[in-house]
Amino acid sequence: MHDVAAPNIEPTFPKLSLSNGFAALPPEFYTRLMPTPIVAPYLVDANDVAAALIGIDPAIFPSKQFIDTFSGNQLLDASQPLSAVYSGHQFGQWAGQLGDGRAILLGDVPSYNATSRIELQLKGAGATPYSRMGDGRAVLRSSIREYLCSEAMAALGIPTSRALSVIGSDQLVMRETPETTAVVTRMAPSFVRFGSFEHWFYNKQHTSLKILADYVIVQFYPELAAKENRYQAFLAEVTKRTAHLMAEWQAVGFMHGVMNTDNMSILGLTLDYGPFGFMEAYDQRHICNHTDQQGRYAYNMQPQIGHWNCYALGQTLLPLIGSVEDTEDALKGYQNQYTAKYGDLLHAKLGLLTVQPEDDKLFDAMFALMQSSHTDFTLFFRRLGDLQIAHPENDMLLRDLFIDRAGFDAWVLQYRARLQSENSLDAVRRLAMHKTNPKYVLRNYLAQVAIEKAQKKDYSEVRKLLKILQQPFDEQPEYADYAALPPDWANGLEVSCSS
Ligand code: AMP
Ligand code: MG
Repeated sequence: MHDVAAPNIEPTFPKLSLSNGFAALPPEFYTRLMPTPIVAPYLVDANDVAAALIGIDPAIFPSKQFIDTFSGNQLLDASQPLSAVYSGHQFGQWAGQLGDGRAILLGDVPSYNATSRIELQLKGAGATPYSRMGDGRAVLRSSIREYLCSEAMAALGIPTSRALSVIGSDQLVMRETPETTAVVTRMAPSFVRFGSFEHWFYNKQHTSLKILADYVIVQFYPELAAKENRYQAFLAEVTKRTAHLMAEWQAVGFMHGVMNTDNMSILGLTLDYGPFGFMEAYDQRHICNHTDQQGRYAYNMQPQIGHWNCYALGQTLLPLIGSVEDTEDALKGYQNQYTAKYGDLLHAKLGLLTVQPEDDKLFDAMFALMQSSHTDFTLFFRRLGDLQIAHPENDMLLRDLFIDRAGFDAWVLQYRARLQSENSLDAVRRLAMHKTNPKYVLRNYLAQVAIEKAQKKDYSEVRKLLKILQQPFDEQPEYADYAALPPDWANGLEVSCSS
């Protein structure tokens, strides 16, 4: 037998076996429509990690077919594109009908191992009947932010929608200034939101409400379908996932920025990346969304807003669940689920293997110190992992993060004692802590640098940053600058809803 050299075959666009489960719902749930083509689309970036989830070979990223498909300029076979209707509470007020104003669902494809299906949605693919005053477009800036952050969150192990690609166009849209547009292809098993349910409840259409609930339960929570009160079990499960998601956000310092009920995923995913941010100089009241003047969605508010949103969902499911008591019963676990998960995550962040009654005091003292010193959140936990129990003289880098040195010295003494009490081993703890405390997160200024280069058609920084963020726990010493404190100019950066 001779080895035969592999022929040099051009990668071909995969035959994605597209269907559209959502389109099986009755027509009142959506509007069928075509994406509006964009002028002369080009590839900004696409990523192999997300592509692998649906069996796309990265070699086709630069191809015309890939670019045309994921800009909305060319339809996949069997595509039945649609935009979905939903409503929601925005900043605590009932806002009525919203809907996918600029997101068009292409359909769903099997995941690489064929165990589930993944929906493909184009964000920024043109106006829909739900656009209200909007133009249906997304600007390059916000598209890059969503693309980078959703993939960074996935790499951090936090439930999230994913992003396959950003396709750009020189077509301009008006925001505070004229900006070029882009289309992000995002992926999730479903984009149904709390607001999708609210829509039917507030329009007093309980038949549609039931159809939607049955669809979501059968498709995404099949284990609940046979429960005595499936709607109650469903609310309880969504409540739990939301509580856990909030704990994950808090533990990594992620701030969503616009936790309106229409941005809350029914699957407990991080969804709709807008004016999000990662905590840098610690301030528990930090507001990442410049538009949120009251601080409704400030960092320390997120867990209770998550709860509030679950109540809003519970209200809408009440007609299906049947009684106020059963509805409240499904919601009542939230606080404990959040506290338990957050407690686990905090213990892991501090490298603690056991739970002791005095731990809360240790955590509270730590956050109080971080608050008064405005300690960098990510750097603190990462450096804490390097602590050596018997060598306080090596604490310099950690200690440098605190203005209140005496306060730090007192706290770290307690922390050392706590570690000793469970015979913690430096090397073992360090390894575990560095797997839970990322070195790299999407700092605002890093995104800003990548965006400014991309606006000049240099996409290399988007590529590089994505690669770094896809390995957030690895040392990657060659990229140490990306883990450093933000430069002074970053203080003035403001992020608003305008996207
Ligand atoms: P968001 O604040 O991004 O969650 O959006 C709130 C609502 O406004 C949703 O219904 C969006 O689909 C819609 N929307 C946001 N931006 C645009 C836009 N540029 N064009 C059309 N609809 C938009
Ligand atoms: Mg939204």
